[in-house]
Amino acid sequence: MKLSKAHIHTLREVPGEAEVPSHIWLLRAGMMRKTVSGVYSFMQFGWRTLRKIEEIIRQEMDAAGGQEISTSPIQPAELWHESGRWGVYGPELWRLKDRHGREFALGPTAEEVVTDIIRNEVDSWRQLPINLYQIQLKYRDEARPRYGLMRSREFIMKDSYSFDRDEEGFEKSYAAMREAYTKIFTRCGLTFRPVAADNGAIGGSGSEEFMAMSDVGESDIVYCEKCDMAATTELAAGVDAAPDVTEMLPLEDVLTPATKTIEAVASYLGLSKEQTLKALLFDVYNEVPNAKGEYEHKEYVVAFLRGDREINKVKLINALGIAEHLIEFADEVKIGSATGCVGGFTGPVGLHDCRIIADSEVVGLKNLCAGANKVDHHTKNINYGRDWTADIVTDLKLVGEGDACPVCGNPLRAARGIEVGQIFHLGAKYSAKLGAKYRDEKQEEHLIEMGCYGIGVTRTMAAVVEQSHDENGIIWPISIAPYHVILTQMKPDDAVQTELAESLYKQFWDAGVETVWDERDERPGVKFKDADIFGIPIRITVGKKAAEGIVEFKLRREKENEELPVAEAVERVFALVI
Ligand code: ATP
Ligand code: MG
Repeated sequence: MKLSKAHIHTLREVPGEAEVPSHIWLLRAGMMRKTVSGVYSFMQFGWRTLRKIEEIIRQEMDAAGGQEISTSPIQPAELWHESGRWGVYGPELWRLKDRHGREFALGPTAEEVVTDIIRNEVDSWRQLPINLYQIQLKYRDEARPRYGLMRSREFIMKDSYSFDRDEEGFEKSYAAMREAYTKIFTRCGLTFRPVAADNGAIGGSGSEEFMAMSDVGESDIVYCEKCDMAATTELAAGVDAAPDVTEMLPLEDVLTPATKTIEAVASYLGLSKEQTLKALLFDVYNEVPNAKGEYEHKEYVVAFLRGDREINKVKLINALGIAEHLIEFADEVKIGSATGCVGGFTGPVGLHDCRIIADSEVVGLKNLCAGANKVDHHTKNINYGRDWTADIVTDLKLVGEGDACPVCGNPLRAARGIEVGQIFHLGAKYSAKLGAKYRDEKQEEHLIEMGCYGIGVTRTMAAVVEQSHDENGIIWPISIAPYHVILTQMKPDDAVQTELAESLYKQFWDAGVETVWDERDERPGVKFKDADIFGIPIRITVGKKAAEGIVEFKLRREKENEELPVAEAVERVFALVI
């Protein structure tokens, strides 16, 4: 491609809404354009890179036994009612109606649609296993679309679904997908690690997320340097402090004026935060909205943890068995009049008409201090079992840097990652709901064992930019670069330079080296700047020494350039690209 003929619009300024490098550079390099919040159009360079990522995915999926299909993003609501997810998915599900009032969703994922195909077309064990995949647009009406392609409302996803006769078969399908994912992200040039993860709205009984390591990632992970434990903080199990064996002391109400926080109470009473009990108040809503589409109040929930701990909201909603959008922090006045608690002075003794959920650790601790459910008062020496009990006792702790590894006890390390893919064991969750069955050799009927596997294709492109850029722009790995080589001609009106550039251009394309020829009538500074922004991995400059058969060879990721005889430069390019 000759750059003078191409429509490529780079931006000199950082677009106002772009905060993270991938968002900034993909816009500045003219790779994509915003259509509306969380929705993007891809221009030539961006689309070429996306197609390359897709091609890598396709090759590895096919090699792992996947069969590519394409289902419509328009999915009938009936299927979502059958699976029970019409309610669970909440406002993130992009809903629409046709002219007859029939309801649909724009697919955020496709378990229902693909399971529906399988239930209609599979009846014998002989047809299994099956692994179907597709690469297409997905829709999620995210509460806060942000960071460009990292969290958008329309994005490209590769989703696959495996169907096996039993768990043993599923294990093989899962292992093949796990290996394919490792190859895909390696070929895309990412630094990543698989970590154990929560299942979220997809459900099922186990999953792993592939995290591209990056400080701008929205996923927190913890890992152990001693054993190989690695998990999202959403999932990572907390380790309870050893039970306290001291004697229980009598309850004692104390005056604690205006001490509403754990820090204030602990310092006022001369206690450590570990000797206090933290209360968190929540309002839980009905799963099915009323006629006006509003979610009505269902119950109040009060959670208790040791004072120095943070709550893990994912563990809380999993323990309550509800979806994320059905819970929020309660209005202190409303919950106070219903349950007897007082905001800032809430404790477990004397609470009523609410569900109490306790972190497993507090059951073994003695003589804790918590609010007295009276303004400006706290109660000392509260003991689980003697003074209060909970409706649910479970691990609610948010685990972080320095906490004990749940496997070996070593202090954990924390890091941030971008979730580029996730693989799930679904078991029979969808096959049971939708009735996807097969008959075995004895004609006995069984539910099909399922797995599902997603990759955020557009998010992967952003993750590569996050990991691979500098102050001048993107640095694409060769495998997914929009073009391999940029041929920068210093003087477009110089006949010798034109002749050499043209012959290189032809030689490269003939050999399959995708080359952009910058023969624009622009100053060299502008050309070099653009080449850096685009991030094309190899730059060959045809300039003053063209007559001597010498060109400049430069890798985007390195600072120095070298003068090389043309044949040597060509050889280097071939060695890197082909
Ligand atoms: P997240 O936790 O980031 O919201 P998720 O766990 O809900 O993602 P999955 O249902 O596992 O997402 O979807 C499969 C893949 O699709 C994810 O691993 C991610 O790479 C990508 N993805 C999900 N949501 C978005 C989004 N809003 N924008 C871009 N990519 C996304
Ligand atoms: Mg996920």
